[in-house]
Amino acid sequence: MATSSPETRRPVFRFAPSPNGRLHLGHALSALTNERLAGACGGELLLRVEDIDLTRCRPDFEQAIHDDLAWLGIRFDGAVRRQSEHFDDYRTVLGRLQAKGIVYPCFCSRQEVRQAVAAQEVETGRAWPRDPDGAPLYPGTCRSLSAREAEARIAAGEAHVLRLAMDRALATIGGALSYRVFGEDGAEQVAVAEPARWGDVVLARKDVPTSYHLSVVVDDALQRVSHVVRGRDLEAATDIHVMLQRLLGLPTPRYHFHRLLIDQTGQKLAKSRLSESLADVRARGVTAGEIRRQLGFA
Ligand code: GLU
Repeated sequence: MATSSPETRRPVFRFAPSPNGRLHLGHALSALTNERLAGACGGELLLRVEDIDLTRCRPDFEQAIHDDLAWLGIRFDGAVRRQSEHFDDYRTVLGRLQAKGIVYPCFCSRQEVRQAVAAQEVETGRAWPRDPDGAPLYPGTCRSLSAREAEARIAAGEAHVLRLAMDRALATIGGALSYRVFGEDGAEQVAVAEPARWGDVVLARKDVPTSYHLSVVVDDALQRVSHVVRGRDLEAATDIHVMLQRLLGLPTPRYHFHRLLIDQTGQKLAKSRLSESLADVRARGVTAGEIRRQLGFA
């Protein structure tokens, strides 16, 4: 990089898809919004492949990402970062959080979490609190395991995830958490982050030393991303990212949350619902220019 002071550095944007399915029009909107906003301020645009899910990510999906983006005519700067090649980076940062005493191993299976939540609901007669994505908050079963018991279970090879002890993490931070959100016109607002509503989030999965939240924070910092442009479906999760940045002493980028595309049934486009892929759109004879126009980028 030619310049080093933060004031004179070019803004850095990134598009960060996961190769766990085919990209759809919603991804085109996200990539094109990044392209437009980066272009408007003379920023760089990076491509990051978020492939930490070793069971769901596939090489053919990854190749399709490159094909789709090339077809759309989006040019990226610098080298592509593939998260699966950087597990050591995430392990190192995880170690820093562990050293703060705000991470604990959790041996619960999904079913055990469901059962513990159901038991709480019966006992209290009230619905158990849910996170912004609708999943029940972790009921804390493993939070109070003694270090000795946890170590013994790990030594015995018991599968476990690593969770953030949200209360302790927030106590470490002390004050309120906020970040800057920018609009298409560049106007900025301050948003308040409320990570507590996510409970004890998973920072490292059973099979890999990281999670979406941890790797996205580490990579945005390592790649010096200054502007994160992502869909509104990730707005609430940004609270966790801002908290992790604060805990790790990393800079918080500015954020822009773009609209989501919905299908005829009123649901947001999603790989999991097999929304029509960009490859299928292309096969119907639609041109990239038509997609740009349809999405408002012509
Ligand atoms: N990899 C994430 C996805 O495909 C998005 C990453 C982000 O913007 O933080 O949904």
